Amino acid sequence: MSDEVTVGALWRRWRDVFTEKGVGTATLDAKLLVGHALGFNALQLAVRESELVSRLLASDVTKLMQKRLTGESVARILGHKEFYGLEFALNEATLEPRPDTELLVDLALKALPKSGRFVDLGTGSGCIPISVLANRPDARAVATDINPRALEMAGRNAERNGVANRLHLRQGDWFGALAPLPTPPREGEGAASGAGLDVRFDLILSNPPYISSEVVETLSPEVKDFDPRLALDGGPDGLGPYRIIAAEAARWLKPGGKILVEIGYDQGEAVSNLFGAAGFSQIAVEKDLAGLDRVVSA
Ligand code: GLN
Repeated sequence: MSDEVTVGALWRRWRDVFTEKGVGTATLDAKLLVGHALGFNALQLAVRESELVSRLLASDVTKLMQKRLTGESVARILGHKEFYGLEFALNEATLEPRPDTELLVDLALKALPKSGRFVDLGTGSGCIPISVLANRPDARAVATDINPRALEMAGRNAERNGVANRLHLRQGDWFGALAPLPTPPREGEGAASGAGLDVRFDLILSNPPYISSEVVETLSPEVKDFDPRLALDGGPDGLGPYRIIAAEAARWLKPGGKILVEIGYDQGEAVSNLFGAAGFSQIAVEKDLAGLDRVVSA
């Protein structure tokens, strides 16, 4: 007797296991993971259904499937995720890009002036600035992250998506990652040397950690056990990073510049108030496709 199995039987077998264990997207996940182990795309998976899979490969498939059953997402297992129509590599230091965050990119593309320059604070995989730059060949950006392992991914993703020459990476905490602003020239001294006053930005972007420490503990295993805690936990009330960003943002913006931050569905008012208290005007809360508050602009 042989335990050899066909391609089609293999993914169906795992689809049934996933269904039984309550994995929401059982068919898709089973196909993606079998395809990954065999090196097949979706089309090959369909047309090569009746080919036999070697035992060695079937055991590779089993390993991937067991990871999925611990709650690890398919994107994390495969090590990449699609966002804004582009492909992003992930590692343990990067949040898995969420479709909700595409709203921030849409709004940034609208807000950015011609040949504009922007910064993304806490960039992780770099999905936000890279998506903006890929759609705006005239734009330039700085992306910061406190974790060098995240910046490694952002750099690789910028290369892969052809925008590395327009994205500058800086390591550090929020605005602390940026070089200090030069002091303005004194009367009669002319323009400051070097980059001069042009270090301010037209636009500041951020999707900071915004979940309260207490709530982080209650998230699904897929998020809590596999997304980096540093990218989720916004402190006791989830607003810690916004306080820092709001307090410092104005001096990094050109006159008339704008800031856009992603927020949790129930943080619209609190984050608007923080920006109001920091002297910002024209504060608005934007809703995502699900009708939930998702971005604050100021
Ligand atoms: N939107 C993410 C979640 O719900 C959180 C991302 C973040 O904290 N910036 O898991």
